[in-house]
Amino acid sequence: MTDVLISGAGVAGTALAWWLRHHGFRPTVVERAPALRDGGYKVDVRGAALTVLDRMGLREQVSRRDTGMRLARFVAADGRQLATMDAALFGGREGDDVEIMRGDLVRILMAATGDVDHRFADSITALRPAADGVEVDFASGTSRRFDLVIGADGLHSTVRRLAFGPASAYLRPLGHHIAICTVPAGLGEERVELMHPAPGRTVGVYRTAGAPDARALFLFPSPADAPDHRDVAGQRAALARAFAGAGWRVPELLAALPDAPDLYLDAMSQVRMDRWSTGRIALVGDAGYAASPASGQGTSLGLVGAYVLAAALAEAAGDPVAGFAAYERRMRPFVAANQQLAERNLKGMVLGSAAQIRFQTLMLRLMPRLPGRERMIRRVTEPIRTAAAAITLPDVPARAA
Ligand SMILES: Cc1cc2nc3c(=O)[nH]c(=O)nc-3n(C[C@H](O)[C@H](O)[C@H](O)COP(=O)(O)OP(=O)(O)OC[C@H]3O[C@@H](n4cnc5c(N)ncnc54)[C@H](O)[C@@H]3O)c2cc1C
Repeated sequence: MTDVLISGAGVAGTALAWWLRHHGFRPTVVERAPALRDGGYKVDVRGAALTVLDRMGLREQVSRRDTGMRLARFVAADGRQLATMDAALFGGREGDDVEIMRGDLVRILMAATGDVDHRFADSITALRPAADGVEVDFASGTSRRFDLVIGADGLHSTVRRLAFGPASAYLRPLGHHIAICTVPAGLGEERVELMHPAPGRTVGVYRTAGAPDARALFLFPSPADAPDHRDVAGQRAALARAFAGAGWRVPELLAALPDAPDLYLDAMSQVRMDRWSTGRIALVGDAGYAASPASGQGTSLGLVGAYVLAAALAEAAGDPVAGFAAYERRMRPFVAANQQLAERNLKGMVLGSAAQIRFQTLMLRLMPRLPGRERMIRRVTEPIRTAAAAITLPDVPARAA
């Protein structure tokens, strides 16, 4: 049986473990965190990724955990309502598209992987080519040989650094930082996405149905002295500086930061690489081709990438180099189409001036009364729909024999 080490138990890593097991491989997952990292905001699953969930038999379970958001409400610095918008339209979702808390999705995927060996609180420290495999050293002090190693360890992937070189060669910052954290329930409104646009920076907060707390989102221009993504104290300070003097509920949201158990703050970046494999090592999801939260497609890319990679390895039967090449061929156009979405979306997420905010408010207010409204909406959602479906998935049996 082919032994595959997957680094990272996020969306891509857990989905890949499921599919490799389905195809008769023996996956082992190593995750740096002491337990499944179930933090994060809401994420969208659409297009080809929904087909992947269907083929895993998980679509219904995932749909049942839909956030059920109703409305996006835009508010001014003094708390006045500027405009409202249907939540699905705000998120570019339609039809069967699902919006789910990232944590709910990884928990569902993890539960479905069955008896896959998960090693938490450990990570890879060295990778050495070995005869028909890779010799792996772990931070825990152990070493073991695997037939294949897959990096599913996110934007700051360790596998990518060890096998392909430093992150600086592949990370493409989009010029803005994002921060996400849990805040007290009272700062949000149930099933409503409250958005406060200010020139150059945006704050949002929402609470899903029945949730015991709310989640806040901050978008702001990347500071020149940006803290490292692991420096939590530096992150809090950077966030406070970026939103100093802001109105609405921002002072209360910032005051809640020291108690937030899960502050996630990072430069919004994409990963651009000429290749996603070298020898018996390959990358999947954000590690190889992060599209950034601005794309709204990171989760779908992780799910589809896991499916395509596992299918290509199964198809190549014993020739992983050919399998990796087939995976890249099929995924490249899909990744390119989805990465393209980010910059355009970002322009709508952070408006540069008070005049732009006034114009957006006016458009949102007029929208319900405009003739040809449906056509306009379709034109706005068209790019994400097209990108989300820009791949032909290889066929695989629905269940392992
Ligand atoms: C805590 C968290 C919150 C997020 N919140 C959002 C969000 O709100 N909105 C959004 O659009 N995207 C968010 N993302 C990113 C989003 O999950 C991904 O874009 C997408 O789901 C693709 O997933 P991935 O599995 O490739 O990467 P990720 O979801 O980032 O998962 C990578 C996994 O690898 C683990 N890992 C990292 N380094 C190592 C290592 N050296 N050894 C072992 N394991 C390692 C991480 O702990 C994590 O579990 C978040 C990611 C994380 C980790």
